[in-house]
Amino acid sequence: MTLPKTRLADLALLGGSRAFPGTLYVGRPNLGDRRRLHERLDEILDRRWLTNQGPCVLEFEERLAALAGVPHCLAVCNATVGLEILLRATELRGEVIVPSFTFIATVHALHTVGLTPVFCDVDPATHSLDHRRVAELITPRTAGILAVHLWGRAAAVDELTVLAERHGLTLLFDAAHALHASSHGRPVGGFGRAEVFSFHGTKFVNSFEGGAITTHDAALAERLRLHRNFGFAGYDHVVSPGTNGKMSEIAAAMGLTSLDAMPDFVGVNARNYAAYQAGLANLPGLELFPYDPAERNNYQYVVLTLDAARTGLSRDLLVRALQAENVLARRYFHPGCHRMEPYRTLQPRAGGTLPVTERLADSVFALPTGTAVDPAAIAALCDLLRFLLAHGPALTAAAPPAP
Ligand SMILES: *Cc1c(COP(=O)(O)O)cnc(C)c1O
Repeated sequence: MTLPKTRLADLALLGGSRAFPGTLYVGRPNLGDRRRLHERLDEILDRRWLTNQGPCVLEFEERLAALAGVPHCLAVCNATVGLEILLRATELRGEVIVPSFTFIATVHALHTVGLTPVFCDVDPATHSLDHRRVAELITPRTAGILAVHLWGRAAAVDELTVLAERHGLTLLFDAAHALHASSHGRPVGGFGRAEVFSFHGTKFVNSFEGGAITTHDAALAERLRLHRNFGFAGYDHVVSPGTNGKMSEIAAAMGLTSLDAMPDFVGVNARNYAAYQAGLANLPGLELFPYDPAERNNYQYVVLTLDAARTGLSRDLLVRALQAENVLARRYFHPGCHRMEPYRTLQPRAGGTLPVTERLADSVFALPTGTAVDPAAIAALCDLLRFLLAHGPALTAAAPPAP
């Protein structure tokens, strides 16, 4: 049950009652079959094999390798540690070109292992690295490119691959958003030297916390295994630097249960995406981020760009108005990694070269989707957005100052 708005004063931000009695979240976890998860948990306890490449982890790795179309997959405790392990195992030194328009973990992983992130602008159409801008940033100090398949839409894989080969650079992908996605019909997971997935609770397939590194490169996979497990090549035998990046059995059990339900999750996301598409059609100043219908998509994000000049309403005020109504819309990735510490202090002038990133960081937001959101809620939410956009300048004039 939702409460429609007829006058400006009906808005919760201006003292009216909330449109949605229950809170709608971005990134509310999708849950698979509970009974199957409980069975797997019982099996884990019966085996008393809790971690260190137990049967659940091995099965999870096999199934992910098949989905990604690669021979090697390593499950890890989370994608951030996965990226760090990957960067250490590739032994890169110097600079790595990376988007600023990404989750901060992409950039922190570079910094943590002593690499210098070189921020590159993104393509306004795909929100992923603009390969033409990447080409301009390559210098003798460049060691690699860390691209992100943002929102689950594949980055410019072919162009980046050609560029990396021409300059002898290592190409890696943060595929945290992109399980099940494809590029020219080939699954994400097999591109570049290696790719890293995330199964954090907010991702559409989750293992509570978790990640995976996928690669075609057998020698790299061997080094990754050492780095994931303290450098151990056998009992008491340490042959490389390393950390503890292992996935536990219970995380893998959740991951397997999520994978079992992945077709349902994708189906719900696609249905929700289509409902938003219909509900927000012909709304000047508000654009829904497009997935390429020729590719396989997971539709896990409903991302919008608001044109403040055209609507008389800033993205931040729109998000505040929605949150007041119990719709916890989220800004992404505000204010951009280059404006966050330590990069903001280390590279104070980076913003000058990132006009698209700066524009997106001020105009992009995400709306709730996933199995916790149904088409009736989406229809009501789209009506609410229409109402807000129809009253942009009046709302801007009437809104209380931001807290
Ligand atoms: C979620 C996310 C990560 C980090 O994943 P964790 O598993 O939480 O460490 C990295 N990059 C991107 C783009 C993400 O969205």
